[in-house]
Amino acid sequence: MSNFLSGALDSVRRGALDAARRALPQRCQLCAAASGAELICRGCHASLPRLGPACPMCALPTANGEVCGHCLVDPPPFVATVAAFAYAFPIDRLLHAFKYHGRLALAEWGAGAILDERERHRSAERPDRLVALPLAPERQRERGYNQAFEIARVIARRLAVPLLRDGASRVRAAPPQAALPWGERAKNVRGAFACELDLAGLDIAVIDDVMTTGASLAEFAKTLRKAGAARVENWVVARTLPPQG
Ligand SMILES: [Zn+2]
Ligand SMILES: [Zn+2]
Repeated sequence: MSNFLSGALDSVRRGALDAARRALPQRCQLCAAASGAELICRGCHASLPRLGPACPMCALPTANGEVCGHCLVDPPPFVATVAAFAYAFPIDRLLHAFKYHGRLALAEWGAGAILDERERHRSAERPDRLVALPLAPERQRERGYNQAFEIARVIARRLAVPLLRDGASRVRAAPPQAALPWGERAKNVRGAFACELDLAGLDIAVIDDVMTTGASLAEFAKTLRKAGAARVENWVVARTLPPQG
């Protein structure tokens, strides 16, 4: 057989294999039960930790979903936060697998969860642009991808909203936020981002996997506002609840 022909047959075979793999029913990432085309089965999905009534600006719990005292006294540079879940078991496990073990298929799931949450709040207004919270270049190199960007890419496709790929970056690698007490985190991220884009008058949604204290997202929102953004929202898969007491 000519090389050309065997090459062509190979690519047909590969295409057929890919199609077969896509059509295969999935196993739930959490309980390993058959889950049809979904990554998480219905049962597991229904029992994932949700946020109850929460501040519309920062997504921390409030009694009746009113703006929290913090945001009233010292309004953050973003106007809203959409958070699909509370960052607790097993969301932490899923996001960890996504972040450090390259389970990129979870990007589809995370994006779907964010979009469902928006629908629940009937926020039909689409932003003008999406942007993923940038990773420090050295972390991106280590990991090979930015998990926030992978989620943002899926959302951009589903909402048909342009995703900003370049022009906003993390310029200063801070010590990992996880190593710092909550109170130190805002100082740690000051001046961490740069934006070379003209965002004049634009409504921007920033995508990230987890919002912990919100310090990085606040600093990034500040940077986008300086670049002209009229309005910045955060869309995250999960929100960490502050330590009690
Ligand atoms: Zn399951
Ligand atoms: Zn708040």
